[in-house]
Amino acid sequence: MKQSVESKTAIPTDEESLDPDNWQAYRSLLHAVLDQCVDRMESVSDNPWIPPDKDALTGTPLPCSGTDMSIVAQTLVNQIMPYATGNTHPAFFGWVHGSGLASGLLSAMVEATMNSNCGGRDHGAVYIERQLISWCLEIFGWPDDTISGGIVTSGTSSATLIALTSARTRVLGKPIRRSGIKDFSHLCVYVAKGTHNCISKALDIMGIGTSAIREIPLDAATNSMCLKKLAGAIQQDKDKGFLPLCVVGNAGTVNVGRFDDLDAIGQFCESESIWFHIDGAYGAWIKLADPRWSNLSNGIERADSLAFDFHKWMSVQYDAGAVLIKNKQWLIDSFGDRPAYLKGDTQGLAGGAPWYCEQGIELSRGFRALKVWTALQVYGIDAFGQQITQNCEQAELMGTLVEASPKLELVRDVTANVCCFKVVTHDLPNEQLEAMHNDITAKLQYDGAAVLSTTTIDDRSAIRAAMVNHRTQASDITATIDAVLKELG
Ligand SMILES: *Cc1c(COP(=O)(O)O)cnc(C)c1O
Repeated sequence: MKQSVESKTAIPTDEESLDPDNWQAYRSLLHAVLDQCVDRMESVSDNPWIPPDKDALTGTPLPCSGTDMSIVAQTLVNQIMPYATGNTHPAFFGWVHGSGLASGLLSAMVEATMNSNCGGRDHGAVYIERQLISWCLEIFGWPDDTISGGIVTSGTSSATLIALTSARTRVLGKPIRRSGIKDFSHLCVYVAKGTHNCISKALDIMGIGTSAIREIPLDAATNSMCLKKLAGAIQQDKDKGFLPLCVVGNAGTVNVGRFDDLDAIGQFCESESIWFHIDGAYGAWIKLADPRWSNLSNGIERADSLAFDFHKWMSVQYDAGAVLIKNKQWLIDSFGDRPAYLKGDTQGLAGGAPWYCEQGIELSRGFRALKVWTALQVYGIDAFGQQITQNCEQAELMGTLVEASPKLELVRDVTANVCCFKVVTHDLPNEQLEAMHNDITAKLQYDGAAVLSTTTIDDRSAIRAAMVNHRTQASDITATIDAVLKELG
């Protein structure tokens, strides 16, 4: 009898974990790989975008048994690492792509080693995130973290969803979380031209729908959302029994780099008690630049919610963004919910309230804050301010070069870091102009000369360069325009 009980509870001694059998070999391998990563970072100017071999990258059979880590390391370094986006290259100006920081490799090692879950509980990582959020509040001139709050996100898209959900809770009250919105047709969101589609995406996901969006024309004098037309549209909607959800201001539109007059919109929203949201994905950081440009962010402190990225103009490795909420209670009111298995405590690991899972969408979430915290520690905001100023000067230089060439013309005045131009043609139909622009930008990309993107502005195709790259030199700008002109013969 006794014997059988013993055999049932016998403790096996041969269980395997996934840790290395040989830590010394693992250590040596990682040192070697780290050297190769640093080599690549150091020679970044030699590493433009190269077109990926799709078949080679997707044709690997499902691995049932493992491969020696040293062989996988070779694949990582030789078969995967070279096929990056090219956004680490100094002449990458397409879309709005951040260029990465040396500090990111440092923090990535520590982040992976800690493997923290920042959804909640009482551990060091969540305090680093709190520290980072409180630094951001200070940077943007917001009240401190006793009043305002925020959370690190994967980017501005998810930050926007959190912001608009918070606005929804304020406008419709907390019980809406239980009842759901019964009548979607009466909520209105006011935006100006060029607003990013993360706003419509959020409204779509929230079930409010994109028809809630009212596009307010620009004031020709200020190139900002026209306040008179905004007031008129709101009044018209209210007369119909509609309800303003929020007004969205832009700190840097993605297409042409336009900044709304945030101060004026903010004052207006305050007087009307309407939620003011700012999309500052990349442009919020112009706050750190030389006063010549930082004035564009005046009024950013007036917002009820501000969404921005660290992975664009702050160059922090993908992905990292954040949302700030003026009254932090709106976050808890919108996302707070703790089932029994997440019960908090005043002691031990279950402490540390409030948890980030009560302030956003995710429960389990990584330690994204660390790479941002590390970057801010290593470089300091003054250096970032210098880089941002430098990018604005480079956009200005590109604008000057475009204007100096009879073959090119500016599509918009350069006001910050975005330069949009087109080839001078004589009444060429837009499809042909677009094909020409696409050919030029593709040729430059394949040559590894520069990455520019194309867009449509005022129904005409344009070539677009967004300077958010700390590695760019003035010589990259001149070389890029030279390369464009060379294509034109
Ligand atoms: C990039 C961008 C977004 C979306 O941000 P993600 O971090 O890519 O989700 C929103 N608005 C503007 C103005 C942007 O440039």
